[in-house]
Amino acid sequence: MRTWKCNDCGRTVDIRYEEVLDIGTPMCECAGDAKDMELLPASRIRLAVVLEGGMVSSICSDHPELLNQIYVITIDYDTDGADEDEITLVPQGGIRSEPAIVSRGTIDPTEIKLDELFKDNS
Ligand SMILES: [Zn+2]
Repeated sequence: MRTWKCNDCGRTVDIRYEEVLDIGTPMCECAGDAKDMELLPASRIRLAVVLEGGMVSSICSDHPELLNQIYVITIDYDTDGADEDEITLVPQGGIRSEPAIVSRGTIDPTEIKLDELFKDNS
């Protein structure tokens, strides 16, 4: 989603990334089209990878609803003690592969105030 600001009336309009609009197509309620609109900087999506005891305990975001196009896996190269059927060969480019434990992850909502943690380097 990108947010555009109408330079004629000041309204903001959210347009999905997939939508392609031709010049002349009204984008704003006041009939402003692309030449009247200013693309505002995209707000960044913030993720936190939470570890406990060196293991990933969760991957979370304060806007998980924005992340349905992203798939997450964790790759753990520490395979000591793992059963053979838990190990996946992870291609490294060329003909090399490394054994690892690969798990599918999810991005969970969080109550952590990520905006405060990112405020110095957002
Ligand atoms: Zn407008």
